[in-house]
Amino acid sequence: MRLIFLGPPGAGKGTLAAILMERKQVAHLSSGNLLREAVRRGGPVGQEVARTIQKGALVPDPLVTRLVLERLKTFGKADSFVLDGFPRTVDQASALDEAFVQEGQTPIDLTIGFEVSPQTMVTRLAGRRVCEKCEANYHVERLPSKREGICDRCGGALKTRPDDKPETILNRLNVYRTQTAPLLDFYRGQGKLRFVSGELGIEEQYKALVGVLRQECLAG
Ligand code: AMP
Repeated sequence: MRLIFLGPPGAGKGTLAAILMERKQVAHLSSGNLLREAVRRGGPVGQEVARTIQKGALVPDPLVTRLVLERLKTFGKADSFVLDGFPRTVDQASALDEAFVQEGQTPIDLTIGFEVSPQTMVTRLAGRRVCEKCEANYHVERLPSKREGICDRCGGALKTRPDDKPETILNRLNVYRTQTAPLLDFYRGQGKLRFVSGELGIEEQYKALVGVLRQECLAG
């Protein structure tokens, strides 16, 4: 099962990818997490990436593509994974397809498009909390931690992401509309696009996703 999760921030991509990893042993590769690792490593590249993320803009294609492809090389040629947040531009998607051919890797089976209204996106991002240590995602109402402000998994402190501030959210939505949404046509053209509503509760969303995967014979 090789999937791409495509959708605006707050549509549930990361949450569902984490559940799929837990319940179906599918690796979760988040380009946002890879970039935040680069920020933590520091140096001029890390600082530049931090500034870009803070603005809600996209990190340049060559940099993010290199990080993702390097990580994909550590996977077996047919390992299952979900790509969450990558690709975000048509150039990244083309580079990904090319890399699969060059490396003799099994290509992507399916892209799942998550659709969510701007209002839902704003509520989801405003209520999102992320563990400082292990990056587990929570939401104050949709997915609260057992103890307020503390990660269930590792006991780390839960924080609001700097790019989940209201002034950045609208910019991220615009970036999605102009630069990432054209990818829907890219994967539609390959016959690999299916949709799951981003408006559902987490378990309903998971059920809808598994329903789509079963229809495509990608899950038992
Ligand atoms: P995410 O964790 O997926 O919401 O990503 C957080 C931020 O990292 C985005 O707003 C971008 O600034 C950057 N980012 C993540 N993935 C990509 C990508 N595929 N291309 C460019 N920038 C990215």
